[in-house]
Amino acid sequence: MDCSVCTTMPLILRPPRNTICGACYEAARSIINMMNKLETQKAIDNSNGSPASPANSCKNGVTLSDAKRWCSEQKDMVLQQIEDMAFLRSFVDAYKQQIHTDILVIPGDSASPIPAHKAILATRSEIFKNMLDFDECKAAPNNTIVLPELKYKELESLLEFLYSGTLAPEKLEKHVYALILAADKYEISHLQKHCERYLLNSLSASNALDILEIAETCSNQQLMETTFNFLVENIRDIVCSSRFEEFARKCPHLNVQLIRASLNSSK
Ligand SMILES: [Zn+2]
Repeated sequence: MDCSVCTTMPLILRPPRNTICGACYEAARSIINMMNKLETQKAIDNSNGSPASPANSCKNGVTLSDAKRWCSEQKDMVLQQIEDMAFLRSFVDAYKQQIHTDILVIPGDSASPIPAHKAILATRSEIFKNMLDFDECKAAPNNTIVLPELKYKELESLLEFLYSGTLAPEKLEKHVYALILAADKYEISHLQKHCERYLLNSLSASNALDILEIAETCSNQQLMETTFNFLVENIRDIVCSSRFEEFARKCPHLNVQLIRASLNSSK
């Protein structure tokens, strides 16, 4: 079929050049549907959560030319966000170059303390804020804070995340368990989501038992459910692993739930 959209030379087609193939039609429909959903959501957000009134929503629905305008707006927005992020990265420089640091964060493995900024700690975690407020009440302010559960490298990664809002994949991979526990303890929800996303994406037969244990410790419901269902589906591989014996000894309650769910699902 001579499609006037995806053909490489539309000019050789006979006028009025308005034929369109199934693939282009479907793609155009899904772009328009996606745009309609976004416009409706925007109208709901603008009206503070109440359902969009007919006046706010698009009467005739969006067209492909709206989609083109929207893409261009999105591009500008992304460029703006990249610039904003670059501006905020100056916090990371202040941390790395130790510019005007005012507190020493001490890890639990008796390694050297890491200089940081109270303001960053206090704005990233309500728990840190309370710890620092409490210190300020003392007669002689103690400019140290101890995070006993973190080793030096784990603490370094936590601080890097607090300053930059992100972490290199290799650091996340290495310290994800320590970081998700710290995120839970110090109520750093952005870090919690970051670690949760990483663990869900890397879920496999070799790490699922560790993830289930961590998810239970952090009371992370979504991580627990997904990991639990994964374990039930792959129970044959899991029970044969040496890790399973250790898990059964350490978490007998989870082990019982897992065996029951597996037996029920195989009925
Ligand atoms: Zn086409």
